[in-house]
Amino acid sequence: MSAITTPTAKCSTDGCGQLMTQYEDPEYVGSDGKVYCGSCREHDLDNAATIHLIGPSYGKGYLVKVGDLFVEDFEGEEPTGVTFTRKWVSSDSWRGYHQTNIVGWYEIADGWTTGWPDDSTARKVTLNDFIEAMIVGGNTPPVDVCIILDSTSNVFSTAVGIHVKDHDAEALQTWLSAGALDLDGLRSALR
Ligand SMILES: [Zn+2]
Repeated sequence: MSAITTPTAKCSTDGCGQLMTQYEDPEYVGSDGKVYCGSCREHDLDNAATIHLIGPSYGKGYLVKVGDLFVEDFEGEEPTGVTFTRKWVSSDSWRGYHQTNIVGWYEIADGWTTGWPDDSTARKVTLNDFIEAMIVGGNTPPVDVCIILDSTSNVFSTAVGIHVKDHDAEALQTWLSAGALDLDGLRSALR
């Protein structure tokens, strides 16, 4: 009787090379079609951008994590109907930020926020409340909106991008002007 051989594959991350077996360490297929081990997947998703899709098409909202290797919704599925790109932009040898984008949508406002506002960043309190109300409900926009949150090399600040489909930009602007932050207000709060 010949020995039972278990098919193995090597994790594709440079410097990892973990051997994966079907039962002990399942392999995960990244968005590039290559296979990765569980801990590389976990690390990637821990550092991923958080995407909130909200509006009429998304009910209570749709959460997607966009990493360098994996793109997954809250059920671990690759989202359909939307495509994301992600790249690292280095500002010097130590610092930089991830630039995550939703393909085919228009970025109506972008900037940054912090969960630790001080006197000089008091506008961030209004901004955070506004974004939270859009995401968790109570203030759902009348058109689909994509909010992209990305960590930066400053652990206290988060990059924020607000995207809308081209033909919805005007409707979003009208809706904003009736609320706590109009488009100009939103843009300056993000600065
Ligand atoms: Zn690995």
